[in-house]
Amino acid sequence: MDFLRPTTWQEALAAKADRPDAVPLQGGTDVMVELNFDVRRPAALLDLTRVPELRAWEMTGGYCRIGAGVSYATVIEELSGPLPGLAQAARTVGSPQIRNRGSVGGNLGAASPAGDSHPPLLAAGAVVEVESRERGVRMIPAAEFYLGVKRSALEPDELIRAVHVPPATGPQYFSKVGTRNAMVIAVCSFAIALHPRERRVGTGIGSAAPTPRRAREAEELLARELDWSAPLDPALAHRFGELCARAAAPIDDVRGSAAYRAHALGVLARRTLTWAWNDYRRAA
Ligand SMILES: Cc1cc2nc3c(=O)[nH]c(=O)nc-3n(C[C@H](O)[C@H](O)[C@H](O)COP(=O)(O)OP(=O)(O)OC[C@H]3O[C@@H](n4cnc5c(N)ncnc54)[C@H](O)[C@@H]3O)c2cc1C
Repeated sequence: MDFLRPTTWQEALAAKADRPDAVPLQGGTDVMVELNFDVRRPAALLDLTRVPELRAWEMTGGYCRIGAGVSYATVIEELSGPLPGLAQAARTVGSPQIRNRGSVGGNLGAASPAGDSHPPLLAAGAVVEVESRERGVRMIPAAEFYLGVKRSALEPDELIRAVHVPPATGPQYFSKVGTRNAMVIAVCSFAIALHPRERRVGTGIGSAAPTPRRAREAEELLARELDWSAPLDPALAHRFGELCARAAAPIDDVRGSAAYRAHALGVLARRTLTWAWNDYRRAA
């Protein structure tokens, strides 16, 4: 197995262009597990840990641009203010060791339906920045990035450079059901982001469909019927929960049944909307 070790982003793009079969390696918390269990044996690994710009984040163009190698620990320590939903999700990932090594870019690269970054990225309206040597930069809205189970819109010669997330303008929440409290893959998860300036609510569903996805009909319901100057109508919150559950396409597996996932998702949606709404009203 070849081990490619670029030290700049341009070298990394060149290496991926010349060796599209090379598997990128960031924190290695997915890749090394797969190698250890012999799930795959790639001809080459492309180690990105020596590319410093991948580990930095910055505010630019009204977005928080998070380098693909930024760890969950950094998101928690440095970005809980502007990105509370993503930071909440990051707090639920694995253990301290996994949060130190694992990255948001690696979560996107793996594109697992159960990845915890995806629901808050969808709810916030994030955009994924990918790049190839031959075709340059492509900006892919998170909602178009996930194509199937562990399949994304990334081409074989492309790398994820960063993810651009709009800073929160209203309350955000992430909630996850697991078979225990820590070190657990989500049975299902849900993220909500209130966008008061646009009178809009964003959603993200995790681990309850082949891909992470938005609950679009539920979002449309709130865009139509939510009165932003009044307490939350419990009947509206209930319908919101139902539509979120309907937006999912869960399966039965070792972690939970499809029926349980749909039910739990409805509860998470109603609950997170209520928390976010209460925060919004208190602040207003
Ligand atoms: C014990 C344990 C607990 C875990 N718990 C959770 C959890 O609670 N929630 C959760 O969501 N995940 C969890 N994971 C999975 C994993 O930690 C996350 O998916 C993490 O975000 C992966 O990041 P990484 O930097 O380690 O990625 P890596 O393992 O380095 O890479 C992951 C994938 O992304 C690709 N990739 C990496 N960087 C790039 C790039 N720049 N461009 C293109 N492709 C790239 C790789 O080729 C690979 O396919 C857990 C893993 C372990 C081992």
